[in-house]
Amino acid sequence: MKQIDISKTFKFLGTGTSFGVPQIGCSCDVCQSNDPKDNRTRCSISIVSESTSIIVDTGPDFRQQCLREKITRIDAVLYTHFHADHIFGLDDLRVFNYLQKDKLPVYMPDFMYDQFIQCFNYTITKPGPGLTRPRFDINTLSNKPFNVHEINIDVVDVNHGETKVKGYVFYCGSSKISYLTDCKSLPPETIEKVKNSDILILSALWNDTNQHPGHLNLQEAIDLSRKLCPETTYFTHLTHRIGFHIETEKLLPNSMHLAYDGLTINI
Ligand SMILES: [Zn+2]
Ligand SMILES: [Zn+2]
Ligand SMILES: [Zn+2]
Repeated sequence: MKQIDISKTFKFLGTGTSFGVPQIGCSCDVCQSNDPKDNRTRCSISIVSESTSIIVDTGPDFRQQCLREKITRIDAVLYTHFHADHIFGLDDLRVFNYLQKDKLPVYMPDFMYDQFIQCFNYTITKPGPGLTRPRFDINTLSNKPFNVHEINIDVVDVNHGETKVKGYVFYCGSSKISYLTDCKSLPPETIEKVKNSDILILSALWNDTNQHPGHLNLQEAIDLSRKLCPETTYFTHLTHRIGFHIETEKLLPNSMHLAYDGLTINI
């Protein structure tokens, strides 16, 4: 039995797909649910140890997630890919420059740097009088492992239809945590690297048999999870078509769970 160290945690800041749940204009039962676990903001996680706080992706709900979870310090922001639901809270990182009186280390896949500069050019130009901008120390990533303080991180490829995505494998204390969002399939090298994780986080769009070209549905995600042999799996990036949290959770195999916003796991 693994010793639990409550000073290290892994938290789901957001577990929703690009539309979020409830979805604007939708009157389905899940979107009308009063269960907070059915309220899914855009996808993001944090990993926190004694000395390090890492965020993966800053979607459009990032500011609300920071307020809800009382996040006051960030040591590094990691990006998975350049899709609006993962990136468009970026400007709200400005406040951490102010709080920490320093530039913020940002890690992004090398393939997304040009899009980042095109869209967020103001972050690298001198602001006009009275204006502020986020100040970053940008690191572009290939698949070379790196570390943020004592947390070692492997970078892996994830297939998301025609879009490239990076996944991250975190080695935090004695735990191996693999975060693979916006996944349709995995190349063999990634399968080797994420196998036997203590915690696997995998995206799953909906609980029906329809197939999406860029995302796994729940059954496909369950099948892929079995192949990767993790101790525990959490599914994220969920639409309203995943169903009510409480009901879909009952249908899952014992070691697999639906994530929900605010779910915190000691690692
Ligand atoms: Zn709905
Ligand atoms: Zn995406
Ligand atoms: Zn997404």
